[in-house]
Amino acid sequence: MKYNPQKMAYNPNEIEPKWQGYWEKQGFYRAEDFSKKPKYYVLIEFPYPSGEGLHVGHCRSYSAMDAVARKKRMEGFNVLYPIGWDAFGLPTENYAIRTGIHPRVATDQNVANFKRQLKSLGLSFDWSREIDTTNQKYYKWTQWIFLKLFEKGLAYQAEIPINWCPSCKIGLADEEVIEGRHERCGEKVIRKKLRQWMIKITEYADRLIEDLKKVDYLEKIKTQQINWIGKSSGAEIKFKIGKFEVKVFTTRLDTIFGVTALVLAPENSIIGNLKFKVENWEEVEKYIKEVGQKTEFERTQLEKIRTGVPLKGIFAINPINNGKIPVWVGDYVIGTYGGGAVMVVPAHDKRDYDFAKKYGLEIREVVAGGNISKEAFVDYGKLVNSGQFSGLSSQEAIEKIADWLEKKDLGKKSVQYKLRDWVFSRQHYWGEPIPIIHCQKCGQVPVPEKDLPVELPYVERYQPTGTGESPLAAISEWVNTRCPKCKGPVRRETDTMPNWAGSNWYFMRYCDPKNDKRLADPKKLKYWLPVDWYNGGMEHTTLHLLYSRFIYKFLYDIGIAPTPEPYQKRTSHGIVLAEDGRKMSKSFGNVINPDDIVKEYGADTLRIYEMFMGPFDQAIAWSNKGVKGVRRFLERFWNLVLGCRDNKKSDIEAEKKIHKLNKKIDEDLEAMKFNTTVSAFMEFVNFGLKNEGKIGRDIIKRALVLLAPLAPHITEELWQALGEGDSIHNQTWPRYDEKLVKEEIITLVIQINGKVRDKIEVEADISEEKAKEIAVSREKIKKWIEGKEIKKIVFVPGKLINFVTK
Ligand SMILES: [Zn+2]
Ligand SMILES: [Zn+2]
Repeated sequence: MKYNPQKMAYNPNEIEPKWQGYWEKQGFYRAEDFSKKPKYYVLIEFPYPSGEGLHVGHCRSYSAMDAVARKKRMEGFNVLYPIGWDAFGLPTENYAIRTGIHPRVATDQNVANFKRQLKSLGLSFDWSREIDTTNQKYYKWTQWIFLKLFEKGLAYQAEIPINWCPSCKIGLADEEVIEGRHERCGEKVIRKKLRQWMIKITEYADRLIEDLKKVDYLEKIKTQQINWIGKSSGAEIKFKIGKFEVKVFTTRLDTIFGVTALVLAPENSIIGNLKFKVENWEEVEKYIKEVGQKTEFERTQLEKIRTGVPLKGIFAINPINNGKIPVWVGDYVIGTYGGGAVMVVPAHDKRDYDFAKKYGLEIREVVAGGNISKEAFVDYGKLVNSGQFSGLSSQEAIEKIADWLEKKDLGKKSVQYKLRDWVFSRQHYWGEPIPIIHCQKCGQVPVPEKDLPVELPYVERYQPTGTGESPLAAISEWVNTRCPKCKGPVRRETDTMPNWAGSNWYFMRYCDPKNDKRLADPKKLKYWLPVDWYNGGMEHTTLHLLYSRFIYKFLYDIGIAPTPEPYQKRTSHGIVLAEDGRKMSKSFGNVINPDDIVKEYGADTLRIYEMFMGPFDQAIAWSNKGVKGVRRFLERFWNLVLGCRDNKKSDIEAEKKIHKLNKKIDEDLEAMKFNTTVSAFMEFVNFGLKNEGKIGRDIIKRALVLLAPLAPHITEELWQALGEGDSIHNQTWPRYDEKLVKEEIITLVIQINGKVRDKIEVEADISEEKAKEIAVSREKIKKWIEGKEIKKIVFVPGKLINFVTK
C-alpha cells in the first residue's frame, strides 16, 4: 500500500475496516494447538445475544482483555482469546412470544448483529473457534455432562416450591419476579410445589471453599463465594415433640440451657401431624397459608421483623435437661435449611431477643457478661444456670455439651452450609432438553449416549402450556418414544435446562470446538487449561462462577478436566452507567449504542475511552466529553508520530520518558490499571509535542508498539506509514532499560512568595502538576496558602516551585 505522508489526516472510518479485513485474512489471531510457544488463555464472559445489541458495558471488558491478549502475543505467547454465544434462555423466548419470530430465527439474527458489532471494534478474537450454546453439536455435550451427573447420583428429582404465575400458568425464574410480581404480566407471584431436577452442588461445598487457595482471584470475589457457600460448624440437636423428633442446628451449643422456644418452618410436615392436638389450629393454618404467598427472599431478609404463631398445647423437650418448651411456627424458618426448625435463645441472640420481646417469651440468661434486661448478650463468656456445665467457658462448653449429647445419642457435631442444591429444571422451550426418559417399568432411564443430542424440536408453538409443564409436553410426536431398556412406550422428560447449563463448560469447548467424538480432545484440554485470566461481571460471582467451578471439578473427578480449578486468575469490571448516572435502559432513553460511537469517533477511541473512564473494577458513568478527550488524544498522537518520524536521533530525556512509559504499561496492564496506562500515554504525548526535536524515530517506533494493544488500528496505520513493512501486531514487545527508568531523586524547594517554606524529596523529572499536588498537600505549606488565592506558580524543573499569593 502506498502512502502520501503529506496528506494524511486521521480518519478512523477509513482505516479501521481496512485493517480489520487485513488481520482477518492473515489469520493473525488464530490460536495454535500444541504450539511450542508458551500458551496464554484470556477469557471474557461470552455474551447473551439479545435483541438490544452490544452494550458499551460489554466493550469495557472486551477492550481491556483484548489489550492484555495483544500484549501477550507480542511477548511471545500463543494466545487463545475466543468468543461465542450464550444463546439459550428467557429473553429470547419472551421476545419470540411477543413478536412471533421463532427463537431460532431471532437468535441467528441477534448473533449476526453482535458479530458485526464486535468485528467493528477490531477485537483480536479467534473467530475460527466461535461456539453457540444453542447449536445441537454443542448442546450434545451439555446433555452428556448431565448424563454423567445423573450416572454419579448428582442429578435427582425432588418436589420443591418454585415461583408461579397464576395468570400465565408458568413457573418463573427468580429474575422474572420483580417485587413479588411477574415482570411480564404484573400478576402477583405465588409459590407452588413442582417436581424439579436438582444438581448436588452441596457435595462439592468444601472443595469449592478450600481450592480458592489454589487460585489468584480478587479478594472480594473469594469472599463472596465463601459467604455464599456459608459453611458453619456447630452441632445438631434432637428435640422431641410428642412421638416426633426434630433436628435443630446451632453454632452456639453453649446456650442450650437458654432455649425458651422452638420454631418450626411452615413447611415442616410435623405440623400437619400435630393437627388434632393443636388448640388453635385454625389460626395456625391461616398463618401457614399466608406465609405460602411469600417468596423465600421476602421471608429471610435480615431487616424484616420476624413473625410467628404458637402451637398452643404443644411442647418440645430440651434434651439437655428434659425441660418443656413451647413450640411455634414462624415465617423466617425455611423448610429446606437445617431440619426445618430452629431454637430460640433470646438472651444470647439479637433477633431472638426481639422475637421474645414481641411475643412475651421467657428470656433466660445462661452466659454471664451482659445485661439481658436491656439487650441480648451475644459474646462468649462463662456459663451460668447450665446445670453441670455452669462455670465453664463458652468454648469449653461447646465441646463438652457436644460430647455429652453424642454419648446419649441426643445430638452430634455437625457442619452446615447456606448453599443449597441447584434447581436445574425450567418449564420453558428455549433450552437444552434434559436427556431422561420416564418409563413406568424401568423408572428414570438416561437417553443412551449414542442417541445424543436430544434435539429441541423446531415447532411453531413454543408458548407456555398452562399446566406448569414445559411447552415440549404438548409436542406429542417428540414426547412419546420407546424405552431404551424395555422398548415399551414412554415419555421424555419435558423440562429444559437453565441457561447456566451451557455456560458451565464453554471455555473447555473453545479448546477443541469442532470435536464431534468427545467434549474436547484431552490433549488439547491439557495444553490450554486452566484459563490464565478470566474477567467478568461481579454479578456472576455467586452463580456462573461457582456453578462452572463445580461442574469443572466434577469433570476433573471423572477424568475429563485436566486440573482441579478452571480459572487461574479471576478479575471483574464495574458496570458502565448512563451519563445521568442511572442504569442504561431503553425506557429512560439513555442508552449509548457502541455503533454510534464507532461511527462518530472510531473504534480506537471507544476502546481507549472505556479503559480510561475510571478504575476498571468500579461502576462508572458514561461521559461524552471524556470520549471527545480521548479522540483528541489520538489525533495528537497521530500528529506527534507524523511530525517526528524523520528525526534521526533521540534526546536522552525523551529516551528516559519512553522507557518509563514502557515500564508503567508492563506493570499497570497486569494489575488491571488500564486507566493509568492511558493517562501515562497522554502525558508522554504532551511531552512529545512540546519537545518534537528530542523525539527520534526509535522512540516513535517504540511508542507505536506500546500503544498497539490498546489502539490496534491507528498504530497499524502509522506503522505502515513509517514504511516498517510487517504488521505492527507481529512486533516483539519492547523491554525497558533498567538504567533509563531508574528514578533520580532530587530535593525540590517549595517557596511561598519567594521565601523557602519547605523541601521535599521527589523524582528528578517530576512534572509541574505533580509537584504542585504534593506541595499543596504539605502541612507546612497549607498554612501559608489556606484561604489565599494563588496568582501564579513558578516551576523550575529539578529545583523549585514557587507560589505567588495575593
Ligand atoms: Zn404472568
Ligand atoms: Zn422401560
